[in-house]
Amino acid sequence: MKPFAQPKRIVIKLGTGVLTTGIGKLDTARIAALSSEVAAFRARGIEVIVVSSGAVGLGMGRLGLEKKPRDISKKQACAAVGQSLLMQYWQDGLDPHGLTAAQVLLTHDDLRGRQRYLGVKDCLETLIDYGTIPVINENDTVSASEIKFGDNDTLSAMVASLTGAQHLFIISTAPGLIDMKGTGKIVPVVQKITPEIEAMAGGTTSETATGGMVSKISAAKLAVKSGCGVFIASGAEPEIMHRLLAGTGPGTFFVPSGIPMDSKKRWLAYFQRPTCSISVKADAIPALREQGRSLLAVGVTGAKGIFAAGEIVNVLAPDDTVIARGKTAYGSVEIAKIAGKHGDEMRALYPTRKHLEVVHRDEMAVL
Ligand code: GLU
Repeated sequence: MKPFAQPKRIVIKLGTGVLTTGIGKLDTARIAALSSEVAAFRARGIEVIVVSSGAVGLGMGRLGLEKKPRDISKKQACAAVGQSLLMQYWQDGLDPHGLTAAQVLLTHDDLRGRQRYLGVKDCLETLIDYGTIPVINENDTVSASEIKFGDNDTLSAMVASLTGAQHLFIISTAPGLIDMKGTGKIVPVVQKITPEIEAMAGGTTSETATGGMVSKISAAKLAVKSGCGVFIASGAEPEIMHRLLAGTGPGTFFVPSGIPMDSKKRWLAYFQRPTCSISVKADAIPALREQGRSLLAVGVTGAKGIFAAGEIVNVLAPDDTVIARGKTAYGSVEIAKIAGKHGDEMRALYPTRKHLEVVHRDEMAVL
């Protein structure tokens, strides 16, 4: 592969398995080597954001647990113990290079609200301006299951999208995406994440790991749509990230999509998890998908769930697949009245409303 052009900003996601040996013991040589790589990037003028797992694993080690607890409060307790150790280790690793680690703990809620999302973005920019290395993790201690990102792969893709990074490195114990049914070798380049590519991924069986290849591919999907190229490679390979950028691998590169969504649409598409939805007719879909039009009442068949105007909802095809996500100008009670109605009937029903669009195209991301 040809060497990649120098990126301005990168996000590096490190899995628990890369940073620890056995259960909950820090791999000091590894963190030292990774810190050197981070420092070398910085010396080349590349801005670096780290997303580091390991809090739960290190906490397990410190508390003498051999199995990951099932109980959420116990997992949260492990994270509380391990997170401070994790940061201490990162600072120890970065110290010889004169670099400062900055701990940032996020929950999904922090990125779902537009204001908080923009606040997190500003804070990360400021940390980079100060010359620090933001070290991000999920705020596991306060993350109950419904507000969890799910895993740090997803979190790292969201961070890459939020900060407009050119590359995301997902570094774990996996050497890349392996074509199990075909060559049995690492797939070097993925142009497009097709169902065949997704089928190559399997889950994880490790005690401390979370996502496995499935979550890495779904994270890669999110990142490439934001215009970010993704590498999946093994942290056991020396200087792996520099070798990946030099085009010598080994690992898998996911090519960024040609037309990245703009920032607001990305936020709508990937940072929300709406539970309510608006259903549309099959013949309304091409106008949304191919022509980028707003959703009008005439194409709507009904609402699912109870929601108010201004909420973010899914837009569903008749078979319930999510085709878009956006901010609705009408609440669920109103939707029931306006479904299938034309503009003049809408105007008669809501004479004072400025907008007749149910979901305006500027407020909608087609998936
Ligand atoms: N946030 C978890 C931790 O620090 C890891 C989650 C993950 O690896 O995906 O242990």
